[in-house]
Amino acid sequence: MNNKGRRSFIKKSAVIGLGATLSFDKVLPTVFNTGATPAVLGGTPLVNAPWPKWPIWNKETDEPLVLEALRSGVWSRAEKVTLFEKKWAALMGAKRALTTVNGTNALITAVAQSDIGGGDEVILPPYTFIATLTAILNAGAMPVFADVNPDTFLIDPEAIRKKITPRTRAILPVHICGLPADMGSIMQIAKQHNLVVIEDACQAWLAEINNKKVGTFGHAGCFSFQNSKNLPIGEGGAIVSDDEVFMDRCVSYHNLGLPYGTASARPGSKLRLTEYQAAIGMVQMERLLPQTETRNENAGYLRQQMKQIKGIVPHTLNAGVTKAAYHLFPFRYDKRHFADLSKAQFIKALQAEGIPCSGGYTPLNAVENLGNTFETKNYKRMYTAPELSYERFKENNQCPKNEKLCQEAVWLPQNVLLANRGGMDMIISAIQKIQKNAAAINKKGA
Ligand SMILES: *Cc1c(COP(=O)(O)O)cnc(C)c1O
Repeated sequence: MNNKGRRSFIKKSAVIGLGATLSFDKVLPTVFNTGATPAVLGGTPLVNAPWPKWPIWNKETDEPLVLEALRSGVWSRAEKVTLFEKKWAALMGAKRALTTVNGTNALITAVAQSDIGGGDEVILPPYTFIATLTAILNAGAMPVFADVNPDTFLIDPEAIRKKITPRTRAILPVHICGLPADMGSIMQIAKQHNLVVIEDACQAWLAEINNKKVGTFGHAGCFSFQNSKNLPIGEGGAIVSDDEVFMDRCVSYHNLGLPYGTASARPGSKLRLTEYQAAIGMVQMERLLPQTETRNENAGYLRQQMKQIKGIVPHTLNAGVTKAAYHLFPFRYDKRHFADLSKAQFIKALQAEGIPCSGGYTPLNAVENLGNTFETKNYKRMYTAPELSYERFKENNQCPKNEKLCQEAVWLPQNVLLANRGGMDMIISAIQKIQKNAAAINKKGA
């Protein structure tokens, strides 16, 4: 094999992962029998081949760099971590990148070093992972939930506007599922009200709006490299920003508050990535580009096909989005077109056909962490009793569109989007099979 051939071979193998067996291409979509007995009622599952495994690990291409790190005995933060940061900043088109132990701590660091603290209000969407909220509560700030647009699954800029008060200090938009939020409108609102914007891009590696990477629109962007994420290290995170003074402060904070660059000694933590984690990250980074292309192609096809099924509404992308990251592929399920089969039953039936899927988030504005945080010593010292009334908080933070979205949402995981076109056809056929048999499934109570 010549060099060029080898490179393209490695690239192709990297996408599907060596050893992954995908025989979907052998099955033509037309042979799917959507009228057959559903698997949940004892029929044969529609999917007869394994989906791409996650994470992907290839001994030949992936182990040399990791072994080098292990055998060197240099395990604590050194050149490999710095190199990973340089590569990540370059890939993002950001001046600086700093790695942290995980995405949660990337957010905690970015929020704390943006001078967000006690008494400040921070606007976030209710449709996100709990870590977005954790970062706000850790800083002693007051979370304020702005409702979502159910079509995009993303924070609605108009809802943000309605939540702005003289105490609003920051907006934390989340590119949930890897779908880019409306950063044009959000940055406009931020400018108008002099607010800090920290993007939770923990599911949005390489996603773009007008060819500009998400995570680089706000003052800072945060990423996660947790095991399930599209760039998996096991645990890991990163902050990107063009603000040198802010980034110096973040470096300092992540290293015990020791002085760094323009940052003098300050309160800090210890959040450094290790060399072997950076080595894993660098080999996984090679896959991210080709995989993101594959996910986008398949997601585009799935969206088109799903639109033709009554009662299935795929997400829409915001205007200007040139690429999504697709950590998840979300769609809405309307049981009225499925003989009133509940979402839980639909998911169970889809899983039985061999399609991995789940029901997604529950509303974040209803988690117990909130009320319990308001009862802590620090919060009681920073806020008045009425400000800490959980009943009042719930009243002021209602997000009815999100309530409905959480009831209707269904997710497909990102590894499914790495399969071939035949795999996508199987997903569509499985949904059609359930639709055809919905009344029978509902009658049996399965
Ligand atoms: C994964 C994730 C985080 C946190 O990242 P960890 O690396 O798991 O700590 C934060 N926000 C969102 C939206 C995430 O999906």
